[in-house]
Amino acid sequence: MGDLATLFDPDRVAVVGASERDGSVGRALMENLLASFEGSVVPVNPSRETVLGETCYSTVGAVPDGVDLAVVAVPAEAVAEVLRDVGEAGVRDVVVISAGFSEMGEAGATRQADLVRVAGEYDMNLVGPNCVGILSTPNGLNATFAPENAAPGNVSFMSQSGAFVTAVLDWAAEADVGFKDLVSLGNEAVLDAVDFAAEWGDDPDTRVVLAYLEQIADGRAFIDTVREVTAETPVVVIKAGTTEAGAQAAASHTGSLAGSATAYRAGLDQAGAVYVDDVEDFFDFGQVLADQPLPAGDDVAVVTNSGGPGVLTADAIGESSLALAEFDDDTRGALADVLPAEGSVRDPLDVIGDADADRFLRGLDAVLADGGVGGVIAVACPTRTLDFDELATGIADLHETHGKPIVTCLMGGKLVRDAAHALQERGIPNYFAPRQAVRSLDVLARYREIRGREYDEPTTFDVDAERAESVLDGARADGQSAVGVEALDVLDAYGIPTPERALVHSAEEAERSARDVGAPVVMKLVSPDVLHKSDAGGVRVGVPLDDVAATYAELAAVAGPDDRVLGVQIQEEVSSEDGQELIVGVKRDSQFGPLVMFGLGGIFVQVFEDTTFRVAPLSEREAIEMTEEIRAAPLLRGARGREPLDVSAVVEVIQRVAQLVVDVPAIGELDVNPLIVRPDGVCAVDFRATLDAGDGGG
Ligand code: ADP
Ligand code: MG
Repeated sequence: MGDLATLFDPDRVAVVGASERDGSVGRALMENLLASFEGSVVPVNPSRETVLGETCYSTVGAVPDGVDLAVVAVPAEAVAEVLRDVGEAGVRDVVVISAGFSEMGEAGATRQADLVRVAGEYDMNLVGPNCVGILSTPNGLNATFAPENAAPGNVSFMSQSGAFVTAVLDWAAEADVGFKDLVSLGNEAVLDAVDFAAEWGDDPDTRVVLAYLEQIADGRAFIDTVREVTAETPVVVIKAGTTEAGAQAAASHTGSLAGSATAYRAGLDQAGAVYVDDVEDFFDFGQVLADQPLPAGDDVAVVTNSGGPGVLTADAIGESSLALAEFDDDTRGALADVLPAEGSVRDPLDVIGDADADRFLRGLDAVLADGGVGGVIAVACPTRTLDFDELATGIADLHETHGKPIVTCLMGGKLVRDAAHALQERGIPNYFAPRQAVRSLDVLARYREIRGREYDEPTTFDVDAERAESVLDGARADGQSAVGVEALDVLDAYGIPTPERALVHSAEEAERSARDVGAPVVMKLVSPDVLHKSDAGGVRVGVPLDDVAATYAELAAVAGPDDRVLGVQIQEEVSSEDGQELIVGVKRDSQFGPLVMFGLGGIFVQVFEDTTFRVAPLSEREAIEMTEEIRAAPLLRGARGREPLDVSAVVEVIQRVAQLVVDVPAIGELDVNPLIVRPDGVCAVDFRATLDAGDGGG
């Protein structure tokens, strides 16, 4: 970590492809750098003597005193050559603005591969290609071709969309939002989002990391790094392309597919990133996290001069993870002195419509002094008695003395503008809508929870991976692209309890096995061509010994003439009467890898959609959280006088399945449905897995 500090803090910057031509990127870069950069700006262009008054050199190697950072804006075909020159000149930090790489089909991909090779040879910190550039406010470095510069601030921002960078800079100029560092990531050929998260996590001047992401190349690296960063520095992520339509837009936009929304939510949650889906929250949350202290708890108070907005705020709190605080006796005493006779001491605290700033502030002071109050939302409507400017100064002073988070909701337009600005200057966000104020305070509480998280190592169970792989290899050798209950041995090999069973091929064999297994039995048609066995009439439960032969014949008749039939499986019947049917499944995400699903199972799994997801591998703590998160969680703990079910056995199965799909890349998707959990254990009675063409899986 911390390797990229020089990238943002050069003394001398070369612009390769510097130009005076109006509207050119080479000119915009020169102008932006000359406008604010404290160091030297050196144009490089073989066909010019000077650019915008600065002496121009033919190559970076020819610059007499050398440079620290090279910003490259030449045609794509010339980039590799320029990089060699830059590398030979001993320059490690490079920003390639030029487009025409992996976003431009096969020829572009080849060029990008060349670029990566050269960058590797010289061990370059290379940003881009196909990006808007980088920016750092402490030294005025604006190595972008965006039309606006950034104001100083304590938030660092990375974006996979260059257009979003320019839009944000323009908006920020108007909205008084500042930045420490900013990077347009472009194609991330060398440096990617994970590298900048790590860098800024170590940067004392970056209070919050903001990331606009369309794709995450290595989801696991992202999770591991962001976990470390968020122990100190909040990371707020806005992800584009998480809906079906959005994903298609992202694909045609960056030449890569976005992962599913579910995988992202799970992955970002596990990483400890604050996930937002709208642009307004993105910067709001970034700002509040940068400027405000964290609340000590989830209980908050509302102080207001108007009943209605106070109730709106309380409602919004009810819908958030926050709660209204109960004032303690000292606070109640202090408030009784502050309020007029008709006032009542409770949260939300209404200081009454005729309050002046002094009464409002004394109420706020008393509430902030209460040990049970984590943070406060001050909600004020314009009245004849309330001086907003006085109120704003007082709130900011109290914010400093108490060291607790305060957000405000000065409701109004023209009348509140100056006061809102004064608050903002002192790090207190103001909102028109109470709900937005609550959301901001809520994000502080969420981050406090994230910061306090402990991450455990995934449990590694003693398993027989070879046996699991050989079962799957066998199926693949037989031309199967998926396996069903006939491959329950895979789960056995991973220590997951399965029913006693036998695969039979005749009525006599069926009777014999049913006797061994112990009737009544469950009988299932085993065919790679029958996916949903019960739907096709291929599952019979509670079959008494007398009916086994006849049932065998019926099941054999279920398969169509072209279906491959592997036989009929006789299974021990597992009583689900005092138990519950659950599902443990896996889907591989292109970016985050294996995504484990847990939820209410059985044949209605799609009806209830009561499921939760985590990226594997899983620690015991994460598996436990999954069992606690589903809506049906009370059923597991023994709702309505039923005996509690064996949740710890379920937790183990979730982790063992996670280990299986991490160990065996040949498995594409996987379903254990149902996993029957009873008071005294679990049993996986159904299994299905798709087999990938086979990379490394055997
Ligand atoms: P499919 O999902 O292909 O329809 P399953 O093997 O999951 O077939 O069986 C369907 C249902 O039958 C299960 O959801 C469960 O209710 C019941 N069932 C299956 N196997 C057993 C078993 N061994 N013991 C008890 N019930 C079972
Ligand atoms: Mg099933």
